[in-house]
Amino acid sequence: MALADKDRIFTNLYGFQPWNLSAARMRGDWDNTKDLIARGRDAIIQEMKDSGLRGRGGAGFPTGMKWSFMPKESKDGRPSFLVINADESEPGSCKDREIIRHDPHKLIEGALVAGFAMGARAAYIYIRGEYIREAETLFAAVAEAYDAGLLGKNAAGSGYDFDVFVHRGAGAYICGEETAMIESIEGKKGQPRLKPPFPAGAGLYGCPTTVNNVESIAVAPTILRRGASWFASFGRENNRGTKLFQISGHVDKPCVVEEEMSIPFRELIERHCGGIRGGWDNLLAVIPGGSSVPLVPAEQIMDAPMDFDGLRALGSGLGTAAVIVMDKSTDIVRAISRLSYFYKHESCGQCTPCREGTGWMWRVMERLRTGDAEVEEIDMLFNVTKQVEGHTICALGDAAAWPIQGLIRHFRPEIERRIASRADVREAAE
Ligand code: NAD
Ligand code: SF4
Repeated sequence: MALADKDRIFTNLYGFQPWNLSAARMRGDWDNTKDLIARGRDAIIQEMKDSGLRGRGGAGFPTGMKWSFMPKESKDGRPSFLVINADESEPGSCKDREIIRHDPHKLIEGALVAGFAMGARAAYIYIRGEYIREAETLFAAVAEAYDAGLLGKNAAGSGYDFDVFVHRGAGAYICGEETAMIESIEGKKGQPRLKPPFPAGAGLYGCPTTVNNVESIAVAPTILRRGASWFASFGRENNRGTKLFQISGHVDKPCVVEEEMSIPFRELIERHCGGIRGGWDNLLAVIPGGSSVPLVPAEQIMDAPMDFDGLRALGSGLGTAAVIVMDKSTDIVRAISRLSYFYKHESCGQCTPCREGTGWMWRVMERLRTGDAEVEEIDMLFNVTKQVEGHTICALGDAAAWPIQGLIRHFRPEIERRIASRADVREAAE
């Protein structure tokens, strides 16, 4: 069943109304925020747990549980922090951009409520460097909130003091990884830390920290106002709520849309994107969750529920719900090789399997693309992806390995065909 307009959280997703505070208030934001806060930390966290919200940045970790990891009392006088990940850089992802452009007050109000629930002194919103106009909007919206007494001392009349800082990134994909982001905010080179310790134990400036995605924080006030059971009534067990999907590629109408979690792929595309370019028979494959998850061939994805479990069952994942649609005009080997180049380029170089492996995998991918390879190299490449996967400090190694694994798993005949036809050309030339 498709989501009704009355159940949309992001009612200004397309910017038909102004983003500013007075318009946001008309849409219901900042409505008695102090009453939400008056419920107390434990009640807020319990409501978030009951809602079933799972992190919207890609990993899907339960949000309420993550907040509950934060210490109840400050130890050694150390403050706690909330860091909001707006470094949206996953190829195909552009939902947080729309929230910040058109509904920044949902995010800022969410920062206050979430920050209070986890006992944070302040929130840092880390926005990717390329989002220049969005950063301007965010700075202006935060200033508006301070002017109206919604942030700072006695924020929103709640009796709680809370600050929000906006920090601009400088264009490195790896700074979207939570511990690299923390390093970057601290003024250091953005390189991931080993986990554990997780940020909840030792994060920003060594203090307890929770890192949440923009969408996860922006939906929190609405969940609290409308109730956990309302949010949990969408989707299915373990995959609850509404979700922003970002559909790009070979559909008639690419878009960002809020839909019910678990909506079948075909329905999502028919309802919001006008179908596949050239018709459904022309669909080749889909990357359903941003470039870090493996592709799914057309015949498998058609009726798949678009959620964490449904896509995992197909050997892929929901990730950020950035749905990249590829029709039969796509050179699929070239597309995946281009992603390999991206990960090679963005590797921070800290650990050997990723630093050496991403370059190696890309070079072999390029030879598979042109057909200048031996058939045995397909298995060798697959084995190398298995050596990289799970053997690195952060998830970038996995992200570089998985798209190649998906390609080999589903499109091996196409790779072999290229190698064979190139061998024919070579033979004819000899
Ligand atoms: P992760 O599974 O390691 O962690 C998820 C979150 O849960 C983290 O905040 C982590 O601190 C917390 N966590 C996990 N186990 C914990 C424990 N035992 N105790 C306390 N906290 C715990 O995943 P990740 O590396 O944070 O994220 C990977 C995902 O990011 C990928 O799936 C990818 O889809 C996504 N991604 C998104 C973007 C984007 O632009 N939004 C970019 C790149 C990657
Ligand atoms: Fe850096 Fe890659 Fe290691 Fe992550 S996996 S820490 S990006 S070298």
